[in-house]
Amino acid sequence: MFTLDLRIVILLSSVMSALMATVLFSAYRSFPASIKGLGWWTASSVLLFAASILFGLGGMIPDWLSIVVANTAMFLAVGCRLLGTQCFYGREPTSRLVLLFTVLGTAGVAWWSLVQPDYQARVALVAPLLAILYGMQLYLIARYADRHFGSYFFGGVMLVQTAVVVVRFVTNFTGQANYSSFYSGDLVQSIYLAIYAFITMTLAVGFMMVATRRLHLELARVSNMDPLTDALNRRAFSDRYESEIRRIKRHDQAMSLLIMDLDHFKRINDKHGHAVGDSVLVHFSSTVTRLLRETDHFARFGGEEFVALLPETAAAEAQLVAERICECLRQAGDMGTTGIPRYTVSMGLAEMSRGDESLDSVVGRADAALYRAKMAGRDRLEIATPLKGTNSAGANEFAVSLGRTGS
Ligand code: GH3
Ligand code: MG
Ligand code: MG
Repeated sequence: MFTLDLRIVILLSSVMSALMATVLFSAYRSFPASIKGLGWWTASSVLLFAASILFGLGGMIPDWLSIVVANTAMFLAVGCRLLGTQCFYGREPTSRLVLLFTVLGTAGVAWWSLVQPDYQARVALVAPLLAILYGMQLYLIARYADRHFGSYFFGGVMLVQTAVVVVRFVTNFTGQANYSSFYSGDLVQSIYLAIYAFITMTLAVGFMMVATRRLHLELARVSNMDPLTDALNRRAFSDRYESEIRRIKRHDQAMSLLIMDLDHFKRINDKHGHAVGDSVLVHFSSTVTRLLRETDHFARFGGEEFVALLPETAAAEAQLVAERICECLRQAGDMGTTGIPRYTVSMGLAEMSRGDESLDSVVGRADAALYRAKMAGRDRLEIATPLKGTNSAGANEFAVSLGRTGS
């Protein structure tokens, strides 16, 4: 008949927990501090390691160690996981609840093992407490995790883990598994505990997956975004341009590029200080991002110069967008609670209708138009000369005054 040496399984799982603790600890030390929860998950793996060793030595060491202390370590371990998962998803950690469950669980286990030995009563207490600790994490994953393989894996394993504990609670009463102790030799009991040890381990792998995914997103953000304004940086914008220009080749649609330079920005810095200058840059970036479409790309090219790429947008339509931006800026500022002074922007607009123009070439055309806007008094838009060989309506060279002319 099939036999399963439970003691070996449990001791093996302690080795796995030690390995996971090492992996999690290394991630805890090397991942950015913005990825929270790794410390709790490391602590949890160390506690599980201790718990598994103590459970595994059951019968060879005193009961108060192999049952009571082992269960305390397990409650703390599962509790640490909950705290870690809560921190990871930006929730307030419920440390008091974890402590309460640990005290309650330990007291119950101590009573039903040392004073009035009763294995079923122990399971009836331990299983619901664990189910709540796992169920709470399951809820967090379902509610806050992003749609990604790592999250599905983590959530899936958490679901199985919760279900296993619930099933154990139910079979404890239905008598389908009629065991009287941890090492009763009952096959169902053995399989249950083997699965439990395995799933518990796999959960840590799941958490590593979501943490690694978070790290990946964080690094992508750092390498693609300007840290002050959250706009794309030049390199990321260049990548976006390449993929959009390939689309033009396929679909023969026009696309527009707006280059924007804040007017007399040096004066703002000189008059109000660098910090206010920074706030103006942040304000400008968020205003433009709000007025652009999801599919547009917005980048900070350096200093107080920004650029927007508007796919599937001809010059006439892009001009309306530019007007809206200027209008919005006119409503904003003049210190007070806003903390920013009035400011304006000059823009150059270039339309592309061919898929073979380089970014440098478009930016060059838009820049020339921007230069004319500055020369003509600022706070306005100028449209660039079309590239030779294009014949696009609305791309004639003309100047559009956008209200106040420059000071
Ligand atoms: P114009 O209307 O001709 O564009 O004049 P301007 O003063 O805006 O242009 P100029 O290029 O002379 O000055 C740009 C200023 O932007 C100079 C620089 O100190 C400031 N600047 C560049 N980057 C930052 C930044 O990150 N924060 C702040 N506060 N200022 C910056
Ligand atoms: Mg400027
Ligand atoms: Mg400039």
